[in-house]
Amino acid sequence: LDPAPGLAWHNSFAALGEDFYTLLPPTPLPEPYWVGKNPALARELELDDAWFASQAALEAFTGNRALAGSRALASVYSGHQFGVWAGQLGDGRALLLGELQTPAGPQELQLKGSGRTPYSRMGDGRAVLRSSVREFLCSEAMQALGIPTSRALCVTGSDAPVRREEIETAAVVTRVAPSFIRFGHFEHFAASRQHAQLRILADYVIDRFYPACRTTEQFAGNPYAALLEAVSGRTAAMVAQWQAVGFCHGVMNTDNMSILGLTIDYGPFQFLDTFNPGHICNHSDTHGRYAYGKQPNVAYWNLFCLGQALLPLVGEQELALAALEPYKTVFPREFEARMRAKLGLADAQPGDLALIESLLKLLTRDQVDYTIFWRRLSHHVAGAGPETVRDLFLDRAAFDAWLLQFSERLTTAGPGHPADLMLKTNPKYVLRNHLGQQAIEKAKLKDFSGVDTLLSLLQAPFDEHPGQDAAAGFPPDWASSIEISCSS
Ligand code: AMP
Ligand code: MG
Ligand code: MG
Repeated sequence: LDPAPGLAWHNSFAALGEDFYTLLPPTPLPEPYWVGKNPALARELELDDAWFASQAALEAFTGNRALAGSRALASVYSGHQFGVWAGQLGDGRALLLGELQTPAGPQELQLKGSGRTPYSRMGDGRAVLRSSVREFLCSEAMQALGIPTSRALCVTGSDAPVRREEIETAAVVTRVAPSFIRFGHFEHFAASRQHAQLRILADYVIDRFYPACRTTEQFAGNPYAALLEAVSGRTAAMVAQWQAVGFCHGVMNTDNMSILGLTIDYGPFQFLDTFNPGHICNHSDTHGRYAYGKQPNVAYWNLFCLGQALLPLVGEQELALAALEPYKTVFPREFEARMRAKLGLADAQPGDLALIESLLKLLTRDQVDYTIFWRRLSHHVAGAGPETVRDLFLDRAAFDAWLLQFSERLTTAGPGHPADLMLKTNPKYVLRNHLGQQAIEKAKLKDFSGVDTLLSLLQAPFDEHPGQDAAAGFPPDWASSIEISCSS
């Protein structure tokens, strides 16, 4: 056992009882090496610097060496996958190590890719280098964009072979969040009619994360209805941020939906290159259920599943429906607020939604690069002139007409310079597929500098980073041929 300095483990989830999980240690991997490290998060967790630099930490975060005070467990959940009830799932390749007290509150640490569990079904319990690097980088990219997300502390790799479409190598991501409880955890105990456990789980989540639900006067004082409403609100706000930044999750199954409204389970995600509401990033999503433009409705569908799962606790169907209702107003309100900020508008005016919608139509029709458009528009508002942004459009006259309307609206934009807000809201750097891919190709050759450089850009995505303009440029032609599917 490694008594790592400063690591005082608790595990409040384990205290829920063994109906919720199976205790088991990770399965070791041979000769691990560091693939990526996140010193900023290590500091937030108050990890000892020397220990985090040590071979002991490398072994611990690969699952080769137990940390004193931690008892690893895999939790059980169920869920709807692609709209169909999938029955029991669970942590098939992840293990919860426990939680650490940090200045920002308790944070759970999970190893992903640490071997088979009782919930692995046909899977091998492993994650490959490629998907682990993507999860590591995207978690931190989202965090820096101000989007609620699980975090990633490090990735370790091993040359142990893992079979996917071809033979790849294994990796383990250490991810961090206040809780990894999913909608699917609730669905599990509802579907199996374990209502006592369902209540224990809901009470745990309320007491720990949503204490205001206990004393609500809404919903006839029903704390479980209040929980449903609160989760709906957080989910609406999260998805509004996804839409505004052009993020596609790719696998919005109910088992991938966090009860805390965090972005979790990074798989075939993608930041849009050209703007296209119909864009599908998951190669296995043949019907486009999780297309970019469908995400707000899918989130609501998923919340409906959560509502059904909570029904035995809520009691009255009308109360559950009432708790879901605010999503329909919170999502558009949050989305509009985010889009207004992208336009540099500090206050709301009646014509704003029309201005946003007409712009999105132009971006779609002319297949304009979404991130580059916003950054160039920001620079135009900062005084650089409209040429570079106009160059992005085929139909220049239509864009000029829109720009005229926008310029008029800017004259009443409210306090502060709109360009300041825009340059803090519209990132220069997002984790485009091809950027991740380039870092991964190098990492496969044991050169991890690409991962490190990209992490530093993504952790400060609004900064200019002189000399790194290539990472803020248009995607190369080969980017559109990258195929990314579900679990890898
Ligand atoms: P996902 O589509 O990645 O959310 O995975 C769905 C379910 O399959 C989850 O319960 C995962 O833990 C499990 N799973 C995915 N990949 C593997 C794997 N390689 N080995 C075991 N379980 C897996
Ligand atoms: Mg998952
Ligand atoms: Mg996954």
